Amino acid sequence: MQHPVFSSNQAEHEMLRYIKKLENKDLSMVHSMISLGSCTMKLNATAEMIPVTWPTIGKIHPFTPANQVEGYKEIITNLENWLMEITGFTGVSLQPNSGAQGEYAGLLVIRAYHENRNEAHRNISLIPASAHGTNPASAVMAGMNVVIVKSDADGKIDVADLKAKAEQHKNNLSCLMVTYPSTHGVFEESIVEICEVIHKNGGLVYMDGANMNAQVGLTSPANIGADVCHLNLHKTFCIPHGGGGPGMGPICVNDKLRPFLPGHPIVKTGGEKAIPAVSAAPWGSASILPISYAYIAMMGGDGLTNATRIAILNANYIKERLSEHFKILYTGSNNRCAHEMIVDCRDFKKAGIEVEDIAKRLMDYGFHAPTVSFPVAGTLMIEPTESETKDELDRFCDALIEIRNEIREVESGKADKENNVLKNAPHTATVVISDSWDRPYSREKAAFPLSFVRDAKFWPAVSRVDNAYGDRNLVCSCLPVELFAEQN
Ligand SMILES: *Cc1c(COP(=O)(O)O)cnc(C)c1O
Repeated sequence: MQHPVFSSNQAEHEMLRYIKKLENKDLSMVHSMISLGSCTMKLNATAEMIPVTWPTIGKIHPFTPANQVEGYKEIITNLENWLMEITGFTGVSLQPNSGAQGEYAGLLVIRAYHENRNEAHRNISLIPASAHGTNPASAVMAGMNVVIVKSDADGKIDVADLKAKAEQHKNNLSCLMVTYPSTHGVFEESIVEICEVIHKNGGLVYMDGANMNAQVGLTSPANIGADVCHLNLHKTFCIPHGGGGPGMGPICVNDKLRPFLPGHPIVKTGGEKAIPAVSAAPWGSASILPISYAYIAMMGGDGLTNATRIAILNANYIKERLSEHFKILYTGSNNRCAHEMIVDCRDFKKAGIEVEDIAKRLMDYGFHAPTVSFPVAGTLMIEPTESETKDELDRFCDALIEIRNEIREVESGKADKENNVLKNAPHTATVVISDSWDRPYSREKAAFPLSFVRDAKFWPAVSRVDNAYGDRNLVCSCLPVELFAEQN
């Protein structure tokens, strides 16, 4: 900890201001909605968050003797029961600390099931092309071979291809990993048939539960015929995320898989034929469970179902408003999306506008970008959640529609192809207030493109950076090595 930052803030006031300065650079949910598709950035209510600060919750060692943590046990047991009711399943493990770890745990449980039936050779995992990257990664980590299933022109799983591959691999089929509603933002209408095809060929169905916000109270993984799912408590069940954790990705299973739920060497958990522990603590990041507990307890069954309905309604409201200006990539047969939708931005490439330009320009309007280029490159995936009001949804739609107008100006030649509000976005205060301004558009257009932006302007901290550069090159932000050499 040689960096000056560890010694320069000597007064509490200085420390407070330093931390606040860092916080001020961050556009977060305290400013505006974050419509990250597949991430379910919903309200983390204050009442849900408070118990985390209680020492009786936050300062308990994971291996504290059971008779000293009976309250914790009650929270855990009730939460387990609620999650089983929500998923329709009969077993649950709170060990995994993330969705990806839930996938890994669920796949190990599936592997143990096959081994127990003397079918240890079953090691093929079918995964649709639209799957989240963690799905194939988890399958490989669990020792499986991945076979990709195609999507059809409507973005749905190509059932003929699924059948062909399930039959081709029927002697070695371990499972299908499927996200429902799909990462394309639609309720896969053949989902029940898809699960049946897998079962007929000796495999099990792993349902990726990241999109449970479109299911809770209306349908369930058990209802569609899946055998195991993970739940992202840090998406659907209100644990805050986006800053890198901690999260919780419990798995829920049916009777077939319950005996194999993960055990623990110190604290007894899991089934009678338990796989080894998948994390160090018996109930994962237990201290954040009260957030999901409080959410479910305060909402109640009707409240949760209503939240699902509003999440789907909000997404379809955005879809209706945007579809006059943008192409919505996939919809179900009733022309509806689920709780999120994909906005196709690939047509704008003809005018030289990339999806990234739209993402950056949204910052000038005070919005965090939606999910960019997942699961389809060149698109935005928007998920509003039930937490946002119509006013906020309208501001967000107004921003995107105004950006569409800005794209039209480039398309029509009214704005320069390179030197325009989109390509130069985001505009920092330093750039806009500088004495030298030589852009072909006004400062007002750069910084206050719509009147609501004036009301609470969020100034981006930096202009455009080359995103991919940092991914491909090691960039060290520590002090130069030479400095340390001199000191010694
Ligand atoms: C978020 C997500 C995951 C992974 O969950 P983590 O908690 O980030 O590991 C898996 N699948 C889908 C579809 C997701 O959106």
